[in-house]
Amino acid sequence: MQRQSGWKLKTKEDIKEIYAFAEGYKDFLDRAKTEREAVRCITGSLGENGFTTDLTKDRAFAVNRGKEVMAYIRGSGDIAEGLNIVVAHLDAPRLDLKQNPLYEDVDLALLRTHYYGGIKKYQWVACPLAIHGVVVKADGATVDICIGEKDDDPVFLIDDLLPHLSRKTQDEKKLADAIDGEKLVLLFGSLPLTGTEREPVKQYVLKMLKDFHDISEDDFITAELEVVPAFKARDVGIDRSMIGAYGQDDRVSAYTLLKAFCGIRDPKRHCLAIFTDKEEIGSEGATGIRSAFLKVFLDDIMAGMGIKADEALVRKVLFRSKALSADVNGAVDPTFQEAHEKQNACYLGRGPCVTKYTGHMGKIGASDASAEYTGEIARLFNKEGVIWQTGELGKIDEGGGGTVAKHLAVYGMDIIDCGAPILTMHSPYELSNKLDIFETYRAFQVFFAA
Ligand code: MN
Ligand code: MN
Repeated sequence: MQRQSGWKLKTKEDIKEIYAFAEGYKDFLDRAKTEREAVRCITGSLGENGFTTDLTKDRAFAVNRGKEVMAYIRGSGDIAEGLNIVVAHLDAPRLDLKQNPLYEDVDLALLRTHYYGGIKKYQWVACPLAIHGVVVKADGATVDICIGEKDDDPVFLIDDLLPHLSRKTQDEKKLADAIDGEKLVLLFGSLPLTGTEREPVKQYVLKMLKDFHDISEDDFITAELEVVPAFKARDVGIDRSMIGAYGQDDRVSAYTLLKAFCGIRDPKRHCLAIFTDKEEIGSEGATGIRSAFLKVFLDDIMAGMGIKADEALVRKVLFRSKALSADVNGAVDPTFQEAHEKQNACYLGRGPCVTKYTGHMGKIGASDASAEYTGEIARLFNKEGVIWQTGELGKIDEGGGGTVAKHLAVYGMDIIDCGAPILTMHSPYELSNKLDIFETYRAFQVFFAA
């Protein structure tokens, strides 16, 4: 358990290794800005590391609807003794296009959005944005869209009011009310279609969408188009010790989990890596952790091993499993320290934060790991020399939050939150520390090997 900067324990060679690891992470962040893209990156990596979709094999994975992945490594022990599970989520706060988004006003084409997850709306205006996603056309064919990521791509923007005019409209309101959800509208174009009287700018962008992407206005209805920040992951700080990027909650856990999992060889306990979806909106839905996919995957894995997996056996396997809920925590904010109770908060650069309980207003909604399991994880990390820390999320009555931990704890398994501390969480540009990323990777490594 670390009570000061973990960097103090690192040699020059260690720092080199940590910085090299961060390069792969930045590349992942740039290639995985949506849950679907993350799934493609993860399954690509799994394939390169000997995993297959043939669930009779020792290293196998399955994908749920293009948005969720479960990967499995067979252990030498009895599966009835339970699994070692690490679960991270692939979805991140963003703006989704509405199903009927396009309109024209004041000679501009605009797209209406509906935000996804907990955002501070004022952070999403006046910054370059990209559109990623999938359109399902009338004939059932799908078209992948990604505009705003290449250097010569156009980007999109949500306008904000100039300070000269915002006194009554914004400045006198509460921060949370200054930008209304319905005002998160994307500027999409301004050229009018010649010879068209009615909505010529809208008609022009529709013509472009048809010509370049073969999609019509009705195709928006059957699309999932996500608006995300258009900038790339960058080193932050004169010493390059930190990383600024969109979507680090929770792709910092997803990447470190992927790297740790691919490196596991001949474990004793059977290992399961879960890359889930929909955490930011309550884990509901067919691709969230509350869906039946986990049980279906375990059924298939056991069938692949020649075990007749009845309901009772799957129940026992889950009950006897041990898990880390891999998710980020809010590091002590240097400029808003008053939001934390600093004796029980996590800090950048002290390694992953092991969080016994989350929740709000008196642990409500928390799964609250037992002292015994917390002790087991602490002993393991200490024995293996993982730099780690403990912390809650913020002051007791200041707010709070939750993770997927409670949704797996219902099976009766031991589970505790463990993940990198970050700053500016849920903003378009989240900040992590390279040491924390590396030590999170090490934590998952030793957990699977235990
Ligand atoms: Mn998260
Ligand atoms: Mn989150």
